[in-house]
Amino acid sequence: MSTNPANTESHSAASAMLAAIPSVDRVLNMATTLALIGEFGRVPVSSAIRTVLAQLRDQVVHADTLPADTFAEPAIHLRLQAALRLAARPALRQVFNLTGTVLHTNLGRAQLPDVAIQAVIDAMTRPCNLEYDLDGGSRGDRDNLIEPMLQELTGAEAATVVNNNAAAVFLALNTLGLRKEIIVSRGELVEIGGSFRVPDIMARAGCKLREVGTTNRTHLKDYAESITGKTAMLLKVHTSNYAIQGFTASVAEKEMAKLAHEHDLPFMVDLGSGTLANLRGLGLPSEPTPQESLASGADLVTFSGDKLLGGPQAGIIVGRKDLIAKIKKNPLKRALRVDKMTYAALDAVLRLYRDPESLVQNLPTLRLLTRSVEEIEVMANHIFPFIALALTGHATAAIKPCQSQIGSGSLPVNLLSSVCISISPLAKGGTALKRIEQAFRQLPIPVLGRIAESTFCLDIRCLETEQIPEFINQLKQLTLTT
Ligand SMILES: *Cc1c(COP(=O)(O)O)cnc(C)c1O
Repeated sequence: MSTNPANTESHSAASAMLAAIPSVDRVLNMATTLALIGEFGRVPVSSAIRTVLAQLRDQVVHADTLPADTFAEPAIHLRLQAALRLAARPALRQVFNLTGTVLHTNLGRAQLPDVAIQAVIDAMTRPCNLEYDLDGGSRGDRDNLIEPMLQELTGAEAATVVNNNAAAVFLALNTLGLRKEIIVSRGELVEIGGSFRVPDIMARAGCKLREVGTTNRTHLKDYAESITGKTAMLLKVHTSNYAIQGFTASVAEKEMAKLAHEHDLPFMVDLGSGTLANLRGLGLPSEPTPQESLASGADLVTFSGDKLLGGPQAGIIVGRKDLIAKIKKNPLKRALRVDKMTYAALDAVLRLYRDPESLVQNLPTLRLLTRSVEEIEVMANHIFPFIALALTGHATAAIKPCQSQIGSGSLPVNLLSSVCISISPLAKGGTALKRIEQAFRQLPIPVLGRIAESTFCLDIRCLETEQIPEFINQLKQLTLTT
């Protein structure tokens, strides 16, 4: 029990305040609340009222003073409106990806081009010929929707599509290697994104992994000596997300294909990213293409739809007609098949590759990857004063050169020159930095950067010109605390 008179006084003031908080029923019957019910529905409004009243009770208990009109209708209405807007936000929200990783797996990888978005909308708003042959008037095969484009672009005899590249590898292994052995180089037993590990996929696909060679060196004779009656295929995995340097050796696809074919075995290449474009021609580090692997003699090639290809999440398998036919007969194909949205988007993206000259302009992934430092710098200069202003009293900002990454396991050693706004808190210590990072994350459209060398770094490469007004506007709402 407190005997301090001041304490007792504030205690009784709080009790009076608590008693003044309106009841749920009273708020429900306010005229402004009726309007909100019309907009959001009765159940969400009732739930928001309970949330707001609980917040008020909490504030009365913890805050020293509250404005006199805190419980008046206009103030309650504003709080309710804010709570309802917050609760009505979709679970999947847009963000600004200023992390410097262009194809960020956690942020949804490739952004679709407008033509692909329109194709998805068209496919979703009316019935479509997903599995219907409009010429013959009979049942069709959904893979027929993209097979001709993939044949044209990669030179493959046949193609099929599943949910992602992990599924593509899994399905191919399970179809051709069940209870048999798959020969892979030790240097290629990679883990991608923490959840795709070649040995684990292989075990789940019912195949036995036959590792050959060493981490840094594998020779043709290592493969040759491991082929037995139990061998189902030779597999090459593109070690896209790491590079070993120094005393290394691996076997060219051509030689592996020749060896496999001498033993009547298929040779498969998991490319991971697998671009269809000539990246070197675009001034980017080169990356193997499915057309090159097929030309080298690969019987099957698997790659992702949403990495460098710049399309929807998908796993694409191209290659020999008889092998693709077997894969499509596997009952698991049905379990891994993709929706009409994916076919619509993938077809639209693939069509862009028919016109290599306008590809960069039309495909967001390649547009962002090939942006010049000069262009990024202009954008950085433009937004810099607004960021500096929003940080006043809390942090300083500077425009600095930085390096972007392609991401999604592509080309780890090849970084792209870029420009960032580097933010340093005035207060010392890691928590000040964390608070700045959090404040940007709590904006209406969260801004995600990266923490590097005690600064919060916003890589401007992926900020699109038309998003700048939106970006600048919301900086007024940046809430920094000390
Ligand atoms: C990314 C990657 C995968 C997995 O592809 P998802 O489309 O993410 O399922 C498999 N293999 C390699 C070599 C990769 O780079």
